[in-house]
Amino acid sequence: MSDENVTPMIAMRNVQKHYGDLHVLRDIDIEIPRGQVVVVLGPSGSGKSTLCRTINRLEPIDSGEIRIEGELLPDEGRDLARLRSDVGMVFQSFNLFAHKTILQNVTIGPTKVRKQSRADADKHAMELLKRVGVEAQKNKYPAQLSGGQQQRVAIARSLAMDPKVILFDEPTSALDPEMVSEVLDVMVSLAKEGMTMVVVTHEMGFARKAADRVLFMADGAIVEDTDPESFFTAPESERARDFLSKIL
Ligand code: ADP
Ligand code: MG
Repeated sequence: MSDENVTPMIAMRNVQKHYGDLHVLRDIDIEIPRGQVVVVLGPSGSGKSTLCRTINRLEPIDSGEIRIEGELLPDEGRDLARLRSDVGMVFQSFNLFAHKTILQNVTIGPTKVRKQSRADADKHAMELLKRVGVEAQKNKYPAQLSGGQQQRVAIARSLAMDPKVILFDEPTSALDPEMVSEVLDVMVSLAKEGMTMVVVTHEMGFARKAADRVLFMADGAIVEDTDPESFFTAPESERARDFLSKIL
């Protein structure tokens, strides 16, 4: 087997992080292979967002190491910028540029960071906007779109960088209920196409349908690391049973 097949997409080794006295990530030790869809569950404050944010170095860690396809996540500089563009992130709050059109939101990364030509970037962006179903909105501004449309643009923007992995931090939590499924549908199709994904979500339907693996976090630690079926039918820890009893 070639290296490509065995090197995990993401490897976290003994990662520790504190905010002051708060031990927010405890002994995080996980490997995520290429193409895996990982759903991260856990109560509010358990460290799910912090976990995601350390993977693309939006937050530094105290000790341990994080590798993306075997490459140590650099602290800063050009290497960090390059690695970061391999690791897309989609947030709860969309984070689109308010004063740029939908098309410009999707092309800004490829033209500025990847140095693509305007024509190439536009062409690729239109394909992606079509794929997420918002190509008709290309000349509008984010505020003119619904939340579900904005979040689909945010996913297209992330895809425009040809990421190796996409981190989703509660991508549907800010949406009106009727818009949740249009975003989840796009995520399910990405999962089926083999994208490596780490998804923090409270959407148990997505977890059951699309996840290969569930990580359950409590107090900064990964308490369960299993498949969705086992997690939902036979959670091992008291913390997970308690969590599931509140949400199901
Ligand atoms: P989750 O996403 O699971 O709700 P977070 O990763 O956002 O949890 O937060 C984990 C803990 O770290 C919480 O207690 C939160 O208050 C704390 N925390 C998060 N970000 C910061 C920060 N920038 N400074 C201090 N404490 C923080
Ligand atoms: Mg969070």
